[in-house]
Amino acid sequence: MNDTRNVIILGSGAAGLTAAIYAARANLEPLLFEGLQPGGQLTITTEVENFPGFRDGIMGPALMAEMREQAARFGTEIVQATVESVNLRSRPIEIRADGASYATRALIIATGASAKLLGIPSEAKLMGHGVSACATCDGYFFRGQRVIVVGGGDTAMEEANFLTRFASHVTIVHRRDHLRASKVMQERARANPKISFVWDSAVEEVLDVEEGRVTGVKLRNVKTGALSALETTGVFIGIGHTPNTGLFHGQLELDSHGYIRTSGGMKTNVPGVFAAGDVQDPVYRQAITAAGTGCMAALDTERYLETLEHAASAGSPAAKAS
Ligand code: NDP
Repeated sequence: MNDTRNVIILGSGAAGLTAAIYAARANLEPLLFEGLQPGGQLTITTEVENFPGFRDGIMGPALMAEMREQAARFGTEIVQATVESVNLRSRPIEIRADGASYATRALIIATGASAKLLGIPSEAKLMGHGVSACATCDGYFFRGQRVIVVGGGDTAMEEANFLTRFASHVTIVHRRDHLRASKVMQERARANPKISFVWDSAVEEVLDVEEGRVTGVKLRNVKTGALSALETTGVFIGIGHTPNTGLFHGQLELDSHGYIRTSGGMKTNVPGVFAAGDVQDPVYRQAITAAGTGCMAALDTERYLETLEHAASAGSPAAKAS
């Protein structure tokens, strides 16, 4: 096992990297695990127009590359390893990643959220063969083709609008007769001549698993039960996100959707464990709020470590154990 760290940060999105910048500038020498998607969700977006300080917008990957450099500049140790387990009951907290063990006095969880999928077998079988959950990653492959986007929220509208840069036509398939998306995003989609809507419809099956590529979808009208087929070569799933909290089930208090509950700043219910960004935020989910909560988590960590130090110098046995 390596030496005990002051703080380990899980996740390299806006929350994790902002926490790292603050923790590093406070001389806490943070270690940050990048996770499976270095840079987080912003690396799969195109232009970010609402991050303050960039009047003309900035590309998501460029913003994250800047944040990473900034975190590294102040001495954050960035590790590209997959965290396999976390023991929040032990003191110091134990983490296993790529077969190695790490120990830390404090932990900041910024593992973010991942795209939700429909969960039907044909979707899984054709993932990467015409089915995608990321228009910005895969849209380019659908030049001149007809594609569908599933969902009725801002993610679906954004993906649909983006896809019209490449696709000849985009059909938004939604299970209701009205959208959940914000007004401005709805208007943008409705005004786009390349976008049309199919209402009250759920994707029953993605065709054609036997051919190994997408040729269409089988739809079920949720009001009438009627089945229909729609030809398409691409299916983009834009139905929201799930928090990445699998490592913490049974160890941390989560809400009914699996998001980490925080209170009193970014504290979780386990002392010394803090959470920031989308993993604890089912409401705002913005780059700037993720960064803001990352900053808060780092400041809360700093205070927590100071309290531990004071307790240790006062001879508290609990503090000596950490
Ligand atoms: P939302 O939860 O807002 O919307 C998800 C949509 O997918 C809903 O219309 C929902 O249907 C539908 N859906 C969910 N599960 C299924 C399923 N199994 N089958 C079919 N349809 C399904 O998620 P978003 O990711 O769209 O947005 C999340 C947050 O992020 C929002 O606050 C949004 O404003 C924000 N956001 C902002 C953006 C921007 O400003 N540029 C871009 C993207 C997101 P139903 O309506 O029936 O529940």
